[in-house]
Amino acid sequence: MGSLGNAHVEADGCLLHRSLVEKPAIVDSAEGVNLYLSDGRTILDACGGAAVALIGHGNQEVNQAIIDQIQKVSYVHTQSYTTQSAEDLANFLLQGRPHGLEKAFFVGSGSEAVESALKLARQYYFERGQPDRLHIVSRRQCYHGNTVATMSISGNLSRKVPFANFCYPNTSQVSPAYSYRYMLPGETQTQFTRRLLQELEDEFLRVGPANVLAFVAEPVAGAVAGCVIPPPGYLAGVRALCDKYDILLILDEIMCGVGRTGSFFAFEQEGDVVPDIMTVAKGLGGGYSPISGVFVHRKVVNVLKQGSKAFNHGHTYQAHPISCAAALAVQKIVRRDNLIPRCAEMGKRLENILRAELKDCWSVGDIRGRGLFWAVEFVKDRDTKETFCPSLHFGIRVQQAAFERGLAIYPGVGTVDGYRGDHILLAPPFTITEDQLRLACRVLRISIETQEVLLS
Ligand SMILES: *Cc1c(COP(=O)(O)O)cnc(C)c1O
Repeated sequence: MGSLGNAHVEADGCLLHRSLVEKPAIVDSAEGVNLYLSDGRTILDACGGAAVALIGHGNQEVNQAIIDQIQKVSYVHTQSYTTQSAEDLANFLLQGRPHGLEKAFFVGSGSEAVESALKLARQYYFERGQPDRLHIVSRRQCYHGNTVATMSISGNLSRKVPFANFCYPNTSQVSPAYSYRYMLPGETQTQFTRRLLQELEDEFLRVGPANVLAFVAEPVAGAVAGCVIPPPGYLAGVRALCDKYDILLILDEIMCGVGRTGSFFAFEQEGDVVPDIMTVAKGLGGGYSPISGVFVHRKVVNVLKQGSKAFNHGHTYQAHPISCAAALAVQKIVRRDNLIPRCAEMGKRLENILRAELKDCWSVGDIRGRGLFWAVEFVKDRDTKETFCPSLHFGIRVQQAAFERGLAIYPGVGTVDGYRGDHILLAPPFTITEDQLRLACRVLRISIETQEVLLS
């Protein structure tokens, strides 16, 4: 991501940054929605990093819970031991076994969670005596991670270029459920849904359903295409197709889950849909600890129980006690303070403010999202939806202009097809106030206008 130069980073330090030439700003401290930089500037964090900071930064209760855990025990190996903090986190998240999800597996990052979910799906069919199931279907313009297998099913094309022959081979991709770009002229939402489902069914049949392991999708597509809400009936239709062909449905809620769209599970707003396996991460620890989770449906657990009686997969740092204690503290605050209903309510206000503020920006083609998860997609021409030339880096320029004015937003490029298109994403902490949302939207408008002026 394009970060601004900062004199405080040593020119030839040993840390490998994302860029070998650009130097990110140093953050000295952070509190609530603000980041305090070493050069004295304050940044309003309207994207929570990458939709991570669920309850804002520097929460004293979470900090205390982390200290309390360290003073008890900071590490055990899960082959021989467990800890109360890991047990409590799983029981808290899956209290009442919501939607039949009855087991939680914790690892460190989103990629590890998706990788674990894929291996779990594979083991499920292996134990059912169907070893030919190797193929994974996902969608273009999705993101599922950066490890080899998760990258192989992701649609983030520019990130994959150097790794073209360094992939898990048994994958294919169908169209994203992305109305603004992929609905045909004159097509209704219902017809669009039907066409997408037909395409998915055709793909299952082309590969041979008995060879397919899973269909993997983000209920609300996050970073690559920017907060894309599927058309009504789409996800329920996907569930029905997976049932028809006995294919596992893996929902990746790493960015959109844990309340971000206004319900704990993003799929809960999509009708009759329950995943067989799902993943959460970014908001789970709210940035206080690296932690991700795989939630497993009874249907999958039972096959393992009747078979090998073990998940044949593990990591040294799985269910890490400090990470689990931090995530538990974050999630308890979210529940106690009713922050998910607050997210839904503030999300409606954010939508209104955003639409009003940006209505005269000619480069704003689409504003979309749900809860406190919103994207603005940029176009060169609103009528034709023509994109800016990718070399202009329009979205990154808007992000940089906003950063210069003290606002952090999350840019995305290749929105449309991996190469063309620009968007920015807003995903503030659920604790943000209406005044702070107004300020963020005003600074965003000004930042967009400065880039529009440069082009006209
Ligand atoms: C961020 C993200 C991942 C990868 O998570 P990491 O922690 O960066 O490995 C996977 N899936 C989705 C939907 C994401 O947004």
